[in-house]
Amino acid sequence: MIQEIAPHVYHNAFHERPAKDNDLVAVFSGGRTYLTQGGIFPTAAEIWAVEEAAELVYLFEIDDVAFFLLWQVSEKVKEALVETPTTVFRNMEPSHLALAGATALHLSGWYRANRFCGCCGSTMERDKVERAMRCPKCNNIVYPRINPAVLAAVRHNGKILLTHYANRVNAARYALIAGFTEIGETLEDTVRREVMEEVGLPVKNVRYCASQPWGFAGNIMVGFWADLDSDDETVTLDDNELDEGVWLTREEIPAESNPPSLTHTMIQMFREGRDPQ
Ligand SMILES: [Zn+2]
Repeated sequence: MIQEIAPHVYHNAFHERPAKDNDLVAVFSGGRTYLTQGGIFPTAAEIWAVEEAAELVYLFEIDDVAFFLLWQVSEKVKEALVETPTTVFRNMEPSHLALAGATALHLSGWYRANRFCGCCGSTMERDKVERAMRCPKCNNIVYPRINPAVLAAVRHNGKILLTHYANRVNAARYALIAGFTEIGETLEDTVRREVMEEVGLPVKNVRYCASQPWGFAGNIMVGFWADLDSDDETVTLDDNELDEGVWLTREEIPAESNPPSLTHTMIQMFREGRDPQ
């Protein structure tokens, strides 16, 4: 999974410091990222060579290399780098750079969405002590936003329920039922509601499996096992979201090694019989 980066270590503590020449810089503009010709993050020195006064905002560290965000992306910087879809981070090597890219993308989106105060409209300022945006006029403070979402692996009679999303890019492969947690419900409530909404089936024995930061969508994904609470496996699809829902046996699932996502990790756990009974 994307967070499994050992022997590298991700350090999320906020300790703002000036960038050093060899620190790495995440550059995002217009929903795209900008990398070097070699397809990796530019260093701070490489950014400063193009834009002497570039403002670099501290994000996090992996081992002893800090990652910074280029606050304002000029045309000059874009021209010096290679425009790349942010999906490049999903399979970036070495793999700890995939986590770095997804997390930088998540933070970049949060900073961009909070430049102005939602209470009084003033320009927000970056807090110096903690990772937060603070309004100097009304003192409104906004912390990084993480959207909780669940994955539901529903089993019955040795089979697992897999789905296929309609109208979604890269939806070639099967997935698990998934959905955002609504205000006022528990994660287990979300599992029961989403399964009922998406495939019209009741579930029981909702049990936690694992979680995964998924910066591409600003999420924390929380995976649960569940069992069908009925003898009727008939799937009634929510046409707006899904175009297919199928029950597959362990033998019918193709093997996949080291999948980056929790979805496909759980599907492989089921295939290998490593799901709880
Ligand atoms: Zn304000």
